[in-house]
Amino acid sequence: MNIDGKTKVVGIIGHPISHTFSPLMHNAAFRALGLNYVYLPFEVRPDALEEAIHGIRALGMVGVNVTVPHKEACMAFLDEMTQQAQVLGAVNTIVLHEGLLVGYNTDGQGFLRFLKEDFSFNPKGKKAMVLGAGGAARAVVASLMEEESGEVVVANRSFHRATCLCMDMVRALPSYPQPIPVPLPSQLMAEHLDTCQLLINATSVGMRGQEALPLEPALLHEGLVVVDLIYNPAQTMLLVEAQKRGLKCANGLGMLLYQGAVAFEKWTGQHPPIEVMRKALEEAF
Ligand code: NAP
Repeated sequence: MNIDGKTKVVGIIGHPISHTFSPLMHNAAFRALGLNYVYLPFEVRPDALEEAIHGIRALGMVGVNVTVPHKEACMAFLDEMTQQAQVLGAVNTIVLHEGLLVGYNTDGQGFLRFLKEDFSFNPKGKKAMVLGAGGAARAVVASLMEEESGEVVVANRSFHRATCLCMDMVRALPSYPQPIPVPLPSQLMAEHLDTCQLLINATSVGMRGQEALPLEPALLHEGLVVVDLIYNPAQTMLLVEAQKRGLKCANGLGMLLYQGAVAFEKWTGQHPPIEVMRKALEEAF
């Protein structure tokens, strides 16, 4: 990588940030396309967030990715936000556009592109259950609704958070069928899952250090397609159980890849080299 006076800078801000794989993915893509860009990690403490965001403009950066814990807090310092970012109440990508800081959320689009392009699953008309009611669940629920998924059921340990998520979605996307909140676990949840074609784990249950099952594995029925948004470990206990039953399943690497690809397009205006980015991510694991 030749850094010179014309190199354009993008990056990622978070706290902590040392675990991120995004620099590997994006720098591999810049190299593959011969773009004079560099992607850097920036450790930004919450009390330095405002300064860091203003720094994007001051330094003339192209933009940044935003990760935990800044996805919501950064919104206060932006000039504009897409409707999608407002619906989700979170920004994961910032672009400096003609002097204005514009916030996007590429998680939902990344999830859908993964689902349709990599996984060959079209959610239109299909009944889906999303486990979880945090940021990732919000992105997935909104994208499934916008994609006219048949019915979306939101199952969460804290039932009130599932209810809040569904109410927010009804307000933001009034022309789509209402998502249904259910407690996790519950008999109601089990009954709904029985008629679902797609199950998405958007809880943190199964992550490294939190290895467990987010639901009773006996509920995984024939024909159910399972996506676990977790990518570390690559094989969660949920995916092991799904595979044992011969179910079609995938981890969260594809969503990570495509949310990055959508951000790449926004920063460079170029089609991202998906396979180069995928290889960089897979090698990192
Ligand atoms: P978050 O906002 O912290 O939400 C965490 C969710 O997990 C909440 O619904 C929480 O339920 C639930 N949960 C946590 N511990 C639980 C337990 N012991 N039993 C049952 N439920 C539990 O996190 P997030 O940002 O949405 O991320 C969720 C997951 O998605 C993480 O594993 C993250 O790595 C993954 N993710 C992947 C991608 C990707 O690109 N593949 C992108 C974003 C996130 P309560 O409401 O009851 O606390």
